[in-house]
Amino acid sequence: MSDDLKYCQGTSCHTYNTKDRLKGTKENKTFQTRRRSHFYYGGGNFCSLNCQNDWFSKYGDRAINHFGRLTEPKHLTEDNAWLKDYDWRANEDDSHRYFIVNGITKEQRPITREQYRDDNYTLNTS
Ligand SMILES: [Zn+2]
Repeated sequence: MSDDLKYCQGTSCHTYNTKDRLKGTKENKTFQTRRRSHFYYGGGNFCSLNCQNDWFSKYGDRAINHFGRLTEPKHLTEDNAWLKDYDWRANEDDSHRYFIVNGITKEQRPITREQYRDDNYTLNTS
């Protein structure tokens, strides 16, 4: 099997006894954690929303405490209201297909497809 395959991180994935989880040789078949090259949930870590929820139920509280629990509200201001978006009706080669829009001022600026896909690209300053 390829090393590119990864396991679903769901804490109870193996307990959902679907046919595709049943693995092993004839006498020794067991329901096992799903293994795939790609998962669609939880940033590619979970095979289903169920498994994602299972994980969060068990570890979510500790994860939030570990990475920093919000103890006061965040504020949306002009400085951090920029959000990337795209016009699905525009042609692929249309330079105005991708844009960044300010949720407060509604100002729109065109961006390139590369900027749209770059997770580090933003106009937000706070
Ligand atoms: Zn799973």
